[in-house]
Amino acid sequence: NVVTIMDIGFVNKTKEEFLRDCVKPRLENEEKCFIVTANPEIVMKAREDQAYKEVIQEADYVIPDGIGIVKAAGWMKQPLKERIAGFDLVVDLLQYANERGLSCYFLGAQAHVNEKAVAAVRKEYPNVTIAGNHHGFFDLDDLSIVEAVKESNADIVLVALGLPRQELWINQHYHHFHKGVFIGVGGTLDGLAG
Ligand code: UDP
Repeated sequence: NVVTIMDIGFVNKTKEEFLRDCVKPRLENEEKCFIVTANPEIVMKAREDQAYKEVIQEADYVIPDGIGIVKAAGWMKQPLKERIAGFDLVVDLLQYANERGLSCYFLGAQAHVNEKAVAAVRKEYPNVTIAGNHHGFFDLDDLSIVEAVKESNADIVLVALGLPRQELWINQHYHHFHKGVFIGVGGTLDGLAG
């Protein structure tokens, strides 16, 4: 269920299958996982930066968030079932969290954008517990951020620090956590903030 393009193994599932087979079981079992929503920029960055490539390769799931990736897979005669947009995945996850009363931490974006995104989630998904939130302009080594996220015991951690920062932060601090679905979500908080 993986298609490899430029040394990166992409999840070959529809969004529904990915949620059903991969993400929801992790949430139910309170197991952690690291999801990369790989748009073409991430793939290009991985091509030129070996250390970043290794971070992507170490993630649990890399989803193809870009039609270019889906096309490339087709040309290589290893078709991918569908493009999974990171934003759509986050929306589905918030819906699921709302049904189940799960908690979510919002890490990243400018402070006012972050606050607006959290306010929008509170309104749209009232059963989602806001585990905590923090803007995205801090030092990647700052352990007080890691502590805050850990203390929050969030089921889902949305990390919107732009690339490569979001994947580097998750990779660097992942070992501190026992649970949490960690996703690098790029501009998704800006999208939620409207
Ligand atoms: N961002 C952040 N900290 C940073 C750099 C970016 O929180 O040091 C946020 C930015 O405010 C935006 C999101 O990360 O909400 C995505 O940023 P951008 O669109 O620049 O990222 P990319 O397209 O490179 O993923």
